[in-house]
Amino acid sequence: MTDPEEIRKEIPSYAFIALTRRGMEKISLDQCFLKNCDNENPDLLEPFKKEEYEDEKRQTKEIYIKCKVCNGVFILKLVTLKRVAKSTKEESEDPLAMGMVYALDEKKKI
Ligand SMILES: [Zn+2]
Repeated sequence: MTDPEEIRKEIPSYAFIALTRRGMEKISLDQCFLKNCDNENPDLLEPFKKEEYEDEKRQTKEIYIKCKVCNGVFILKLVTLKRVAKSTKEESEDPLAMGMVYALDEKKKI
């Protein structure tokens, strides 16, 4: 069984999110991203499933969340781009280049 509280810990409170029309914005993730729903109460948002995968360039986590206000399901897709390993002597660079979050609906459409 997946523990919703365990998944919830993996969701950052704030993130830079890619919104279709508004570009990149820093927003709270404690809200329902479905149309016509203004739920911003984290108690009414229940993460119930997590999928993780990674390839050479990025690590991706998809967290499925059910909103108890509109009864809809949406997916927070957290993408961390990895810095491609280089054989330089630069030590000042962070190993993690950047993270991005997308809010998708159940059919994985933004
Ligand atoms: Zn909702």
